Amino acid sequence: MQILKKAFGEYATNCYILKGEQGDLVIDPGEGSFDWVMQNTGKIAAVLNTHGHYDHVYDDAKLQRMGAKIYIHESDAFMLRADPFETMPESIEADVLVKGQEQSLEIAGFNVKFSLFAGHTPGSCMIEVDGVIFSGDVI
Ligand SMILES: [Zn+2]
Repeated sequence: MQILKKAFGEYATNCYILKGEQGDLVIDPGEGSFDWVMQNTGKIAAVLNTHGHYDHVYDDAKLQRMGAKIYIHESDAFMLRADPFETMPESIEADVLVKGQEQSLEIAGFNVKFSLFAGHTPGSCMIEVDGVIFSGDVI
């Protein structure tokens, strides 16, 4: 699996692109990541959000319009809809809500596992993709 990484925004939040044959996964597209993502992907299958803080989901809406399915834990879905700090450019609905303590999914040929580590936000997750862990702000 080829992984691309770049930091965006005032918190230098890491955005990742995981290249796959059936489409790419994007993890935590922060503020200003859209252009970089579009330059480095052919087809985006999904956007996986470790949690709902704006610096991790800022460009979700733009990528959703490009056809990407948005994944986030159900306990953080409210952050995409209504941002209490008014830091998000627009309000969106996630396409897939991850539920419970642990959920395994097959997305575009990748084996994806969300594990809930509530605390940083109610729905903060570690996301494991084909054996590689993306921890967001959990650690
Ligand atoms: Zn955070």
